[in-house]
Amino acid sequence: MGAFDGKSVLVLGGSRGIGAAIVRRFAADGATVTFTYSGSRDAAEALAAEMGSSAVETDSADRDAVIARVRDSGPLDVLVVNAGVALFGDALEQDPDAVDRLFRINVHAPYHAAVEAARQMPEGGRIIVIGSVNGDRMPVPGMASYALSKSALQGLARGLARDFGQRGITVNVVQPGPIDTDANPANGPMKDLLHGFMAIKRHGRPEEVAGMVAWLAGPEAGFVTGAMHTIDGAFGA
Ligand code: NDP
Repeated sequence: MGAFDGKSVLVLGGSRGIGAAIVRRFAADGATVTFTYSGSRDAAEALAAEMGSSAVETDSADRDAVIARVRDSGPLDVLVVNAGVALFGDALEQDPDAVDRLFRINVHAPYHAAVEAARQMPEGGRIIVIGSVNGDRMPVPGMASYALSKSALQGLARGLARDFGQRGITVNVVQPGPIDTDANPANGPMKDLLHGFMAIKRHGRPEEVAGMVAWLAGPEAGFVTGAMHTIDGAFGA
């Protein structure tokens, strides 16, 4: 018997990396999992076939599409908002449209998805957003828009925890440090710089983040809400 037997889980941004590990974890633990993708159709369809889950195309930059996806998923026991993008480079040179797109994906979509999910969510539901330790600490230049977006999620969790707490619905942010994915490969050019900030000098694994998400979604975490949960090898310490 799985820990999430009979539970309905939606993961926004589940085709690759941390999101795919979260999909795998919930599906392996018995949940009925639907996940969204945007650019990676092949990876999404392969993962869905492997795990017996459902992949649906939804661009997190499209607010109304995100709201419709959440609404049409019916009552969710768990919503995980993982989809996120980063921009690197001189703030003075960045395209404002690209910056606003980042805010739509990293900030607007989590907010609107969380609120929409809460409309139908049963008592004791779980809303988990993937933030970043960069919400607490940004030790390099060129990533202010990303840091801003991840700090904003802290306010989302604190505020919505109060809005939905009466119904036993918890709202939490998981804040990874460097995790080995396409976006931040363990053998990439940033490796030595990033490890220099850390006590445990390696990239984390997507499965380690999925483990924290599963704990927050489980019965032991019913009193944990409005909080940030950092998993970063002490990057931010
Ligand atoms: P990847 O780039 O490896 O994967 C990103 C995932 O998000 C993919 O499944 C992608 O789907 C999906 N996604 C991106 N944009 C959209 C969109 N517009 N609509 C729908 N889905 C989208 O990233 P990671 O796995 O590394 O990161 C996942 C989350 O973790 C992000 O929020 C990131 O900010 C956060 N994080 C990552 C860290 C790291 O070191 N890796 C550290 C701290 C936080 P598709 O390809 O189908 O578009």
